[in-house]
Amino acid sequence: MSFRLHVDGARWRAHLRHHAAAHPGIVPVVKGNGYGLGRDVLAREAAGLGVDMIAVGTYAEVPGALQGFAGDVLVLTPWRPFLDDVVLDPRVVHTVGRVEDVAALAATAPAGTRVVVEGETSMSRHGLDRHEIAAAVAALGELQVEGFALHLPLGRGHLAEAESWVAALETSRLDTSTVFVSHLDPAEHAELASRRPQLTIRPRVGTSLWLGDPGALSVRAHVLDVHQVERGERVGYRQRPVPRGGYLLVVAGGTSHGIGLEAPKAVAGVVQRGKSVARGGLEAAGLALSPFVVAGRQRWFAEPPHMHVSLVLLPESVTPPAVGDEVTASVRFTTASFDAVVID
Ligand SMILES: *Cc1c(COP(=O)(O)O)cnc(C)c1O
Repeated sequence: MSFRLHVDGARWRAHLRHHAAAHPGIVPVVKGNGYGLGRDVLAREAAGLGVDMIAVGTYAEVPGALQGFAGDVLVLTPWRPFLDDVVLDPRVVHTVGRVEDVAALAATAPAGTRVVVEGETSMSRHGLDRHEIAAAVAALGELQVEGFALHLPLGRGHLAEAESWVAALETSRLDTSTVFVSHLDPAEHAELASRRPQLTIRPRVGTSLWLGDPGALSVRAHVLDVHQVERGERVGYRQRPVPRGGYLLVVAGGTSHGIGLEAPKAVAGVVQRGKSVARGGLEAAGLALSPFVVAGRQRWFAEPPHMHVSLVLLPESVTPPAVGDEVTASVRFTTASFDAVVID
């Protein structure tokens, strides 16, 4: 049974090295489902890149990261007094973004516990208001400050925002010259670094590092069964009539793999979207486009996917794959769960 991710190892690692070189000071982000590749794989690859720090999303991800990576582990979710899985370890760097949290952590954690102080950007997610930096500095006690952090929105155009925060940092008494940034592109990073040569800027990068060369990644699903069907024939759990004669493929990969949770049209290109609209008849019949690609095209689900398999329709005009053949799938990696990740 297999819904697998195949990685062209040489090509993927060449991209990782190139991307890391283009982002000096990079902190690879190893969180969630490991961008489809798995956190253990990413931690190992990060070590291979020679970086001294990785970032995880949550405290629950810290123990695995400490085991799989020998350097420092930055936690992106800010420390809160009510979290009951906090890991205090000399290699863990906590994020703090509220004055009361700085004070509470300073009061409870061992002296020398390492923190990054986060500023609240236009993301409006977490962090201090710039007027609170002084109060946070006053509350630090024996905490060790490793840097300041900014989480910027996606896309370009956030250099001015980063710069205004850096200016606030410089006039504050926060004793650090390291700034961790998220979502500043390499040109903006270089620009900020050239304007503020005294700062060490450390980009936290996930998607464009791990998934930045899509051609190195291929999702393949086994065809488990093929049935010839006639128009109007009822199939599946829901006994829906098939809108056209052709073939019904039973393909490995269902909701337990994250299939059917994505918006399939978002992953299709403009041409594909045009084709979907042209085939509105099937959409009007209540069918949804599947992520499975057979003979060069994404095919329609015969009904919503199941836990481990999907039923996919293929028109009569297409030669069906054989049982045991593999088809490719166009998935959203951050919600995908593969039976195996095969790095060739
Ligand atoms: C997830 C995350 C990142 C990495 O984001 P990508 O878009 O995957 O590069 C960086 N910073 C923070 C705070 C994050 O939560």
